[in-house]
Amino acid sequence: MARHLPDLIYSKDDLHPLLGARTLEVHHGKHHRSYVDKVNELEQGTPFAQLGLFELVAGSRDDLYQSAAQHLNHSFYWRCIAPVSMQEPEGELAQALVRDFGSLEGFRERFAEGAKGLFGSGWCWLSRSPEGTLRIDAQADADGPWKHNATPVLTCDVWEHAYYLDYENERGRYVDAFLEQVDWAFAGRCFAHPAGIEDEILGTAAAR
Ligand code: MN
Repeated sequence: MARHLPDLIYSKDDLHPLLGARTLEVHHGKHHRSYVDKVNELEQGTPFAQLGLFELVAGSRDDLYQSAAQHLNHSFYWRCIAPVSMQEPEGELAQALVRDFGSLEGFRERFAEGAKGLFGSGWCWLSRSPEGTLRIDAQADADGPWKHNATPVLTCDVWEHAYYLDYENERGRYVDAFLEQVDWAFAGRCFAHPAGIEDEILGTAAAR
């Protein structure tokens, strides 16, 4: 069964001031779609086509891995941002952020530092180690926690295509705006109940 581009759960006009509609049209409708198309092309007629996306990312290599990871990273990223963020982290995640980064502000500083400091294209991740500790990793290209035995909680896409139309070369302004529009309810579910996340981000919950 062919893989699909998941729908956005907000309107393309709803992410101001973080992102304009044109960025979502191009980033979701063209960049993300091209990764989905590439996965379908590469895995067609192979046993990989039977795997769930998490399994595919964990078990593939080279071009198929790169495209599958980009499909997964983007599907996850769209859920990390929210139209308006008046929210703050709550519950177990809020406690863990304070425990591991000293304060919410401490987390924001470390995350912004990672996202702004990554050379070239990649992703900045907040993830939970198997021991339950939170960590921040800026990873190149398509890399993410999926292959490193960690559970993703939040990600910021820092490939230039994620911000160029709105911020040109000013990645720092984009990262600061991103941190103001995080969907903390989603991040909290990723931290506390990661089992349901694959279906949630791919919009496949109803199909199973
Ligand atoms: Mn991207």
